[in-house]
Amino acid sequence: MVIIFGADAKVNEISHVKESLIKKGFEIHESKGVDHTVIGVIGDTLKLDIRDMQVLPGVADAYRISSPYKLVSREFKKENTVINIKDVEIGGKEIVIMAGPCAVESEEQVFTIAEAVSKAGAKILRGGAFKPRTSPYAFQGLGEEGLKILRNAADKYGMIVITEVMDKDQIDLIYKYTDIFQVGARNMQNFSFLKTLGKTDKPIMLKRGISATIKEWLMSAEYILSGGNHEVIFCERGIRTYETYTRNTLDISAIPIVKKLSHLPIISDPSHGTGIRDKVLPMARASVAAGADGLMIEVHNNPEAALSDGAQSLFPQQFDELMEQCRAIAGVLNRNIADRKE
Ligand code: PEP
Ligand code: MN
Repeated sequence: MVIIFGADAKVNEISHVKESLIKKGFEIHESKGVDHTVIGVIGDTLKLDIRDMQVLPGVADAYRISSPYKLVSREFKKENTVINIKDVEIGGKEIVIMAGPCAVESEEQVFTIAEAVSKAGAKILRGGAFKPRTSPYAFQGLGEEGLKILRNAADKYGMIVITEVMDKDQIDLIYKYTDIFQVGARNMQNFSFLKTLGKTDKPIMLKRGISATIKEWLMSAEYILSGGNHEVIFCERGIRTYETYTRNTLDISAIPIVKKLSHLPIISDPSHGTGIRDKVLPMARASVAAGADGLMIEVHNNPEAALSDGAQSLFPQQFDELMEQCRAIAGVLNRNIADRKE
């Protein structure tokens, strides 16, 4: 159930409603908008009479949320959620670009790529230090050494960091180095892990599961929000279909659908979504055109020698071209992408 307070609701009226619901055993999630305070009431709300709620002092309206995901839904929060991390805003007017190598391989590699992508206008540096590889014999990542490299490179070029956390035991370590936790496709339905992440206070980018429906994906985000962390970013990274030409099928339609169903930002990852270098640019353009709040792009200074995902990694110059074209599309939509730094 959602309870919306009037613009002139008094602080004590709001706390009175909250306290009486908590006393009855309900969980309360508060969202403060520009004019209105909204609370989400979680629990067996069928026990509550909507009319009793609607007439409480300070309350402007109360209604039930029909979707199975509550806090994630637009019914709970009408305005877009904007996530602020240092000087970066995700979910606002600007389309934010995350770029970097698939995996952190060396200091030289990450610094070279960070310099190139930040010059091109990327604000968030990506790179895996713990890699979820299909084969246990493939490169698994540099671990903490990789996290340090990523942090130092991001700091040097004025970027923020996103990196994947694969396991509960890695949360405390990665917390020290990253600005955003990335939950990979293979972990999207690891519910106990999501619950633990819900207790953290850093934003979480939740990638869509390899065969997950949009509804399952939104339900997974609900696990994080219900734990108390409301800063979730969705990432469409392609799903498994019967098509084998591409590595995955990037579901562009998921972008406007998620934007309609949820107030949370959604970004697109055409790198994992296609798996093919020359298909990344057209699908990045399509993602921006479809309303994505950001892009995640794999870039490598020497893709042929990359330890993972070389075939889908762009050369820095191709990344520049992608940024330029996406900037033009963003402009048509009255949005923008950060300028190239000369
Ligand atoms: C990644 O972004 O490096 C990654 C492993 O992606 P996904 O979880 O989408 O496969
Ligand atoms: Mn990758």
